[in-house]
Amino acid sequence: MTDTEPLPPEPPLLPGARQTLAVRAGHVPSEHGEHSEALFLTSSFRFNSAEQAAARFAETEAGNLYSRFTNPTVRLFERRLASLEGAEDGLATATGMAAILACVLALCQAGSKVVASRQLFGATLTLFSRIVTKFGVEVVLVETGDPAAWAAAAAGRADLFFFETPTNPQLEVYDIAAIAEVAHAAGALVVVDNCVCTPFLQRPLEHGADLVMHSATKYIDGQGRVLGGALCGAREIVHERIKPYLRCGGPSLSPFNAWVLAKGLETLGLRVRAMSATAAGLVELVAGHPAVAGISYPHHAGHPQHGLALRQQEAGGGLVGIRLAGGQPAAFRFLNALQVFSLTANFGDAKSTATHPATTTHARLTPEAQASCGIAPGLVRLSAGLEDPVDLHADLERALVAAGS
Ligand SMILES: *Cc1c(COP(=O)(O)O)cnc(C)c1O
Repeated sequence: MTDTEPLPPEPPLLPGARQTLAVRAGHVPSEHGEHSEALFLTSSFRFNSAEQAAARFAETEAGNLYSRFTNPTVRLFERRLASLEGAEDGLATATGMAAILACVLALCQAGSKVVASRQLFGATLTLFSRIVTKFGVEVVLVETGDPAAWAAAAAGRADLFFFETPTNPQLEVYDIAAIAEVAHAAGALVVVDNCVCTPFLQRPLEHGADLVMHSATKYIDGQGRVLGGALCGAREIVHERIKPYLRCGGPSLSPFNAWVLAKGLETLGLRVRAMSATAAGLVELVAGHPAVAGISYPHHAGHPQHGLALRQQEAGGGLVGIRLAGGQPAAFRFLNALQVFSLTANFGDAKSTATHPATTTHARLTPEAQASCGIAPGLVRLSAGLEDPVDLHADLERALVAAGS
């Protein structure tokens, strides 16, 4: 078994088989027959002969050479995640941002056009609006999930469509199938950032996306330890078109991080389902509270795309957006009163977290840009963790009193 061969036959991607894939897919034991997946913490690989080294470099013989190209532990993570996304194959990167940059550098060139959502993770928005534009790539930002707005932005020709659904931190839901149809009519590939839902709640490829992008740093790790990213899709796109950039561009995932993330996939489904149930309970608690001006949660009946969210994602997810009535001062009083939720920019962790996007993850945007993409001064993003809900409820109640005071 070598690294450049296609994925081995795996159980069909029936809904009931997903947890089995999470635990077992992609594991190719070494000659020692280890039961738990091994960590190949090595930068290079030894050859049996000079002839073998030459054959490996000439790609006439498959096998590992150097961990910037391939590593068995990284391959385990790539295969396991790809099987969960229903993809032919996957590629891992050092971070989620490195995965996004890989898409642009591998799939675009000077003169290409990227159509991207304006409701993006802060660094993604900065990458698209200020960095890739330096290299002659045109970027058109779309403010809503309305497919007609995406068609107008493409104006008949585009190379790449990029969006998140639900968006972070606004938690708006975009119709993957409808936007993919518009993209394909314009000749573009569709990349969906599936970080907030994970493949346990939503599989964008089934709705017509061409690539799924992950920041594995969030739910896939799930315990706030390592950074990582990934792209999953057809072998032709990930291996023929993107992999050559990764080999030479160098944003490879460390084998150690890949091992942490592959083991994280084993419990991902259990965690995201528990976190979704806890988040739904938090929504019940804050709905209608006088200190709260609005709630954003995809499976909440008041969500503007509630019907779409029910069709497209299996649960509401672990993130909840709360807009406090008193703006930023109330948001700060709320955050400073929390004793269980951690104040941190991360999410998807076993520990519940709370973030003020306007002054942290999205602080680099001008106030006008923040307003146009729904980052209100009173917005707080909560990420439900795995603590007992009763403790989280008590914490929120305390913080809401502080916010309203
Ligand atoms: C965190 C995040 C990213 C970037 O991932 P890193 O691993 O931090 O580079 C991209 N998209 C979303 C939605 C994120 O939350």
